[in-house]
Amino acid sequence: MSEIAERTLAEELSELLGSGCVSVEPATIAEHSADKWFASHAPDVVVFAECTEDVSRLLKFCCARGIPLTPRGSGVGYVGGCVPLRGGVALSLARMNRILEINNEDGVAVVQPGVITGELQAAVKERGMMYPPDPASLKECSLGGNIATNAGGPRCLKYGVTRHYVLGLEVVLADGTVMRTGGRCHKNKTGFDLIGMFVGSEGMLGVVTEAILRLIPHPESRATISTGFGKFIEAAAAVQAVLGSGFHPAALEIADKFTLEAARDYLGEGVVPDGEAHLMIELDGHAESVALESAKLMALLKSRGALSMELADTEAGCERLWGLRREFSYSLRATGLTKLNEDVVVPRGRLVDLVNFAEELQMECGMPIACFGHAGDGNIHVNIMVKDIETDEGRARSDEVLDRLFRQVLEWDGVISGEHGIGIAKKRWFAAAVGDVSVDVHLRLKRALDPGNILNPDKFLARASE
Ligand SMILES: Cc1cc2nc3c(=O)[nH]c(=O)nc-3n(C[C@H](O)[C@H](O)[C@H](O)COP(=O)(O)OP(=O)(O)OC[C@H]3O[C@@H](n4cnc5c(N)ncnc54)[C@H](O)[C@@H]3O)c2cc1C
Repeated sequence: MSEIAERTLAEELSELLGSGCVSVEPATIAEHSADKWFASHAPDVVVFAECTEDVSRLLKFCCARGIPLTPRGSGVGYVGGCVPLRGGVALSLARMNRILEINNEDGVAVVQPGVITGELQAAVKERGMMYPPDPASLKECSLGGNIATNAGGPRCLKYGVTRHYVLGLEVVLADGTVMRTGGRCHKNKTGFDLIGMFVGSEGMLGVVTEAILRLIPHPESRATISTGFGKFIEAAAAVQAVLGSGFHPAALEIADKFTLEAARDYLGEGVVPDGEAHLMIELDGHAESVALESAKLMALLKSRGALSMELADTEAGCERLWGLRREFSYSLRATGLTKLNEDVVVPRGRLVDLVNFAEELQMECGMPIACFGHAGDGNIHVNIMVKDIETDEGRARSDEVLDRLFRQVLEWDGVISGEHGIGIAKKRWFAAAVGDVSVDVHLRLKRALDPGNILNPDKFLARASE
């Protein structure tokens, strides 16, 4: 788009929505060009919606003129999902950040999409309630982004992913129509599961402008156990032993040798338990049952060869142990390499196979690979550590490693994304992951809801003819 046309679009949008909602400031444009993946593309204009009516009017305008529009929450996605690949409008929902209602009797919170996940969690906790989905980015990411990516986190083992907590949605469709689906009832089988269709749709089927979320009673007490194991295989066997002995922890996290070494370099010796593998287990519930289960679990871990064990049973103590887990990502970044964080999932029985495969792959390709993540779900973050991602050669080599990783994961009946979504990052593997018929169904849905293909175009549903 030419500079004049750019100004005209911004001017027209200012007229439509008010000048305070529209920006073409270079710094604002740059800020809305990328997320935490490495690709970027500038939008022509950034619009900050303040209400559903703004979003509806904007979409009507864009639909009539075929202007691409990419919704954006906090921009901390890992797959380039909110990168406006075709320019046009970057629609920020960040100003729609009000918690409209917390209702303990109905067990619901009504929120705007720009509310930060951790802020909702803190607000409902004060009222004795819990909103369980806990992506590690919860201090920054938005609930709208979580809904659009169906975000998960460590607690998903016991509590499930974002989809399990969305009871109702207000969505603005591509032509500006405002649709409400679901409501504040905890069960609802009226028609198709349209909520399920929008959750995880990565901004390609509609813009979420309000959500009714399910809350559950906050557990009275929690405990965290941090253990070191000599070898990964022993830690993985302990995972199976824990789940096979009737325990259902809130979280069961594992980390491999490379991750622990990076953490030792970054945080200093002594902070990270000894051994080549780390296992962290979180229990919650009534204080008596948490204490009893913790003791039994520690005995079990000892019998499975744990080298060291630390138990925390206060809020501050648990958070201190989780602090270590949350530093893993930053420790890997501190190596100075680019971290391609792949959130693959394998059937849980394949955990050891996956880590062995990653070790072989790293020896053959000469790129370090670090594995850590949600062992209880088989959802392991396989981090390919790339030296020269900005060069064509570096990109080609990392694509080759990813080809091999994803091929193997699919052969094991695994999936290429358990949390982050497909976006641009995994676009080239999408068809192999879901099959041609499923791709076709995705495309038919997209065509039905967004015939002009204006909503977040060129992501994993790029149409061959366009
Ligand atoms: C350090 C770190 C740790 C992370 N840990 C986790 C984790 O444990 N689990 C996990 O699942 N993810 C994790 N992520 C990834 C990321 O935080 C999630 O994908 C999160 O849901 C993105 O939210 P966001 O508000 O930043 O969305 P954005 O990045 O802004 O957008 C993500 C996608 O959602 C769409 N979108 C955003 N808002 C709306 C809306 N209102 N309506 C329609 N579409 C919309 C965008 O178009 C885009 O396709 C992590 C990221 C980082 C940087």
